[in-house]
Amino acid sequence: MADKKRSSGKKLEAELCWEYPHIAKEAPEQLEKAMAFAEDYKHFLSGCKTERECVNYAESLLVRAGYERFDAGKRYQAGDKVYEVNRGKSILATVFGSRDLREGVRINGAHIDSPRLDLKPNPLYEKNELSYFKTHYYGGIRKYQWGTIPLAMHGVVIKKDFSVVNFNIGEEPGDPVFCISDLLPHLAAKQSQRTLADGLRGEELNIILGSLPYADEEIKDPFRLEVLRILNERYGITERDFARAEIEMVPAHKARDVGFDRSMIGAYGQDDRVCAYPALIAQLECQKPLYTTVTILTDKEEIGSVGNTGLHSNYVRDYITYLCQNQGADPKEVFSNSACLSADVNAAFDPTFPDVFEARNASYLNHGVVLTKYTGARGKAGSSDASAEFMAKVIDIMDRAGVYWQIGELGAVDAGGGGTIAQFVAMLNIDVVDLGVPVLSMHAPFEITSKLDLYNAYLAFKAFYQEEV
Ligand code: MN
Ligand code: MN
Repeated sequence: MADKKRSSGKKLEAELCWEYPHIAKEAPEQLEKAMAFAEDYKHFLSGCKTERECVNYAESLLVRAGYERFDAGKRYQAGDKVYEVNRGKSILATVFGSRDLREGVRINGAHIDSPRLDLKPNPLYEKNELSYFKTHYYGGIRKYQWGTIPLAMHGVVIKKDFSVVNFNIGEEPGDPVFCISDLLPHLAAKQSQRTLADGLRGEELNIILGSLPYADEEIKDPFRLEVLRILNERYGITERDFARAEIEMVPAHKARDVGFDRSMIGAYGQDDRVCAYPALIAQLECQKPLYTTVTILTDKEEIGSVGNTGLHSNYVRDYITYLCQNQGADPKEVFSNSACLSADVNAAFDPTFPDVFEARNASYLNHGVVLTKYTGARGKAGSSDASAEFMAKVIDIMDRAGVYWQIGELGAVDAGGGGTIAQFVAMLNIDVVDLGVPVLSMHAPFEITSKLDLYNAYLAFKAFYQEEV
């Protein structure tokens, strides 16, 4: 429309007002690429449901792309590719940049642990002719969502001789799955009086394993013994080995397209693999960066980043310090000049539950990556509040690279809250802000994301490594 025909108000509105656009309306040409990118992502999600599996997957891609384990004895040059694995549960990857390391590193950091049900150290029991595993949930789950869905068993048992037994049961079409029972509505009158938080209680998250006994009248617990017999026959383990195990029970379903238009992805573990995957691909595609890159795929975010495979430990500080020593740089100088995208998801506005959001400051599906200036709860407590200056730098990078981004807070004020790894990156004296993908039903067994947002996360992480900061 010619400018003459627009009212002065319309012109002023176009100049002064801003709304974050729907990507499919403004850049429909992105759809085809986003759909293709999502295919590989779904494959990754279906195959990687634990932090260990994500590390193995990432390591195999890195090695195939020519990355080598970091070796403090070597002197690295621009373009050299290295990685390091922390206890099989976190992984770091680097391409050395053309700029001096003193100018800082560029970090994309995502987490690869997700909420789930861990087996207790003494998990196996029988009751009224059924055998069960006891579980202890990991991360923030809504317990009632975990009943009556097929569960798969993933993890490791370290045997007495330190050999490792890997478990992955429930993923192949012919595999059995496992399940937590719930009451039928006919008999649930009393249970229905409970609060939702109490719908299924922690000690009710018991996983059904079998219903056949070991045929021997002399045995007190024949149903338990029958499970042990099968486990011993197939995996060579005994009950005592569960004390040396990390077994995670996760939803058994695969990643699927959601919607008639196939615009969305439904899957378990998208918090935060929907950021981890594009961050990994961005790292793999980064050939000659200006600044040295550090892609972090970390563990333990869902329980507060505590533990030696989480960001609250020194493992990232030490890795970057080794890079500094290798290049003859002072780590303190390098940290202070570094910048990080804390790549984590945010809650997408849910039209069915609008009350917990503040619509003007919520993120929306298909509007791009969410730049979350601060997280936290009760007045930003527990947050790393990114500075206006750093917001300006990140927004400039995104704009220059044509990345679709939006701002977003995690819900309305005092509706709840949460945290990410950002505060632990900030502890290193690094500029950091949260940037990630909006998610519907976050932490549920089946979380929903948009393919266009996923694709823009990939563009964002790539831009952060390739554009000048
Ligand atoms: Mn997360
Ligand atoms: Mn989370």
